[in-house]
Amino acid sequence: MISKKYYFCPSIFPAMFNKMIASILPYMPKKLVWIFSRKYIAGETIEDAIRVSKELNTQGILVTIDLLGEYITKLEEATTNKETYLWIIDTIEKAKINGNYSLKPTMFGLLIDPEVCYQNIREIVLKAASYNTFIRVDMEDSRCTDLEITLFRRLKAEFPKNVGLVFQAYLKRTLQDMKNLMDIHTSEIPLKYRLCKGIYIEPAEIAYKQYEEVNKHFLEDLEFMFQNGLYPGIATHDKPLVEGSYKLIEKYQVPKEKYEFQMLYGVTPELRNSIVSKGHRMRVYIPFGKQWFGYSTRRLKENPKIASHIIKALFIKG
Ligand SMILES: Cc1cc2nc3c(=O)[nH]c(=O)nc-3n(C[C@H](O)[C@H](O)[C@H](O)COP(=O)(O)OP(=O)(O)OC[C@H]3O[C@@H](n4cnc5c(N)ncnc54)[C@H](O)[C@@H]3O)c2cc1C
Repeated sequence: MISKKYYFCPSIFPAMFNKMIASILPYMPKKLVWIFSRKYIAGETIEDAIRVSKELNTQGILVTIDLLGEYITKLEEATTNKETYLWIIDTIEKAKINGNYSLKPTMFGLLIDPEVCYQNIREIVLKAASYNTFIRVDMEDSRCTDLEITLFRRLKAEFPKNVGLVFQAYLKRTLQDMKNLMDIHTSEIPLKYRLCKGIYIEPAEIAYKQYEEVNKHFLEDLEFMFQNGLYPGIATHDKPLVEGSYKLIEKYQVPKEKYEFQMLYGVTPELRNSIVSKGHRMRVYIPFGKQWFGYSTRRLKENPKIASHIIKALFIKG
């Protein structure tokens, strides 16, 4: 066995090799791709999502359930996806899972017909509201940013307690976008945003590219949220950002029920446990569904750095 310490060290893992893995993966047998994907995806069925959610709930961790799928090309798919989400909410609520839901608007036709997309998601939020639960609108690539903010504004006007949005710290516009939305913030029903770095490849004109720059803006955006009494979902696995967040929580004396940390299923469980052990609220994002293959390979193409994690998952057990 090759020495893990030397061979898999991310700092020396060649970018070329990551890119190569990312490009050949879509042509590999599904079974092989599943070997790494299963670490990050609950499974194909809702039973898988329920099983994983229950395990996390028993550790005091909340979940957000996400049906895999995005960028549909035919509007009929949007109707099917909506029906599936309505069924998922009924099923998950019956199973008494402590959590909420995340969705990607391009799965409901955002880039084909934004009005149809809005009507589809409105029905889903209406269903969520009937259970007094919450839908998080994920943020996708920069073609979607304005459309998703507009969508959120409309939904929030009708369902003030049941909908939230995601912001990406790598986008140069993010702080201004947050400021622009302050007209719909109230201290009784604070705006709830997940803050993440952002996963898509964006041009340098609109996005910060350097690790330090992205982290600096992440903490600036988070500080803005704390200063203005918003409810952040601090979505990162990056230890310096977690530590920076602790400092801001301390600085603004933010009570534990006014923010949460969020992580992706299967990623950095040690860091996750350390956050939970300090008494912070934690929510894990649980992707599931038949579209895991496309999702995994697309994510890899977008961010070949993940290839080093895949190699680890393939060769290092546990
Ligand atoms: C709950 C949640 C929801 C998200 N929603 C969105 C969204 O709506 N829109 C969007 O654009 N992005 C979303 N993201 C992705 C996010 O933007 C980042 O791409 C991702 O979280 C990696 O950034 P990081 O902050 O963890 O820092 P990084 O610097 O990328 O990673 C820090 C460390 O975390 C570990 N790590 C990170 N990713 C992985 C991985 N896949 N496998 C194994 N280890 C890993 C590594 O040890 C790495 O060194 C979400 C992330 C989370 C946690």
